[in-house]
Amino acid sequence: MQLSQTVKLYMTKEQQSLIKATMREYINTVNNLVSIAINGISIVKYTTADVKANLPSALTNQCIRDAKSIIKKYNKLAKYNKDIKAVATIPILRKPCFYINNQNYKVDGDYIKFPVFVNGKSKRLSVKTKMTTDQKTIFANNELGTMRIVYKNNKIVAQIVYKKKESAYNNIGNVMGVDLGIKCPAVSYVSGGNIKFYGNGRKNKYMRRYYKCLLKKLQKGKHIDAIKRINNKEQRIMRDIDHKLSHDIVKTAVAHDVKTIKLERLANIRSTTRTSRKNNHSLHNWSFYRLSQFIEYKAKLAGITVEYVNPAYTSQTCPVCGHVHHANDRNYVCKCGFYIHRDVLGAMNICNSTEYVGDSNIRHAA
Ligand SMILES: [Zn+2]
Repeated sequence: MQLSQTVKLYMTKEQQSLIKATMREYINTVNNLVSIAINGISIVKYTTADVKANLPSALTNQCIRDAKSIIKKYNKLAKYNKDIKAVATIPILRKPCFYINNQNYKVDGDYIKFPVFVNGKSKRLSVKTKMTTDQKTIFANNELGTMRIVYKNNKIVAQIVYKKKESAYNNIGNVMGVDLGIKCPAVSYVSGGNIKFYGNGRKNKYMRRYYKCLLKKLQKGKHIDAIKRINNKEQRIMRDIDHKLSHDIVKTAVAHDVKTIKLERLANIRSTTRTSRKNNHSLHNWSFYRLSQFIEYKAKLAGITVEYVNPAYTSQTCPVCGHVHHANDRNYVCKCGFYIHRDVLGAMNICNSTEYVGDSNIRHAA
């Protein structure tokens, strides 16, 4: 899996001004390419020869790749927004930065070497850094990916992506089914019988409603900056909640010797078919998606496989006799005598399900 490390840079004055100029030129180049594509000219076949930029060709190439991926995301989002009758804003990079692929930079002792452009020519800079012993070990033992030169807390730093070797999977172990919901954010069921509830659905709902109310008031007054700030704050809080939930779920899995976590595969977010109660609000799917991603990420680090199962009928099927019917209220009672809390039923059926639909969740709009 891909992780990254942030490295402090100790640049000379000259290096700093060259790097700053490169960062600005880089985002301008990407933004230009994006605007060309949005105005209807395809950039799919663009090469460095089609792009005029004061950048080394390695960086110009990266600009083209970045612009293409921005356009791809934008097109998906535009389609999604059309469905909810909103307009997707055109993506613009504002924070100066640049990306270099692993062929074009080198970590060498305490230095990082990469090209910039000086007087129409590519020039290799060798920038002093301060790496921790851990970072040096990581860089020496893992396959390195893209390096990003970005601002962090107003300082220019290098973020180096690397592929972490995952722990070897061991399939002898327990299986855990996790049911994600709105009223109850998550319930886990481990083969063998352990049940655990996570998070506080009522609190989350209250938070969402509180911010929605606040935003409505601000929108009436057209306080654009305040709206943005509140929106970001809400997103941050929800993200933190998902981090905590996923952490707790994986911790429980590790404690119960779980080797496989099963989650429901989310339906296509543009789809209107109601395959489960969770699709009633397509926006909720975005938060289920994020939480699944967090669980997947943390599980992988712990050497646990994540599998996705078909969500159809997981909250309606009796695990004892197989009868399918809706739960009344919070309890599921079957005519065969079996009864259980509705949310536990979901986790139990997910745990027992063999209707696999892959090892990866949907990517935004499938
Ligand atoms: Zn039954």
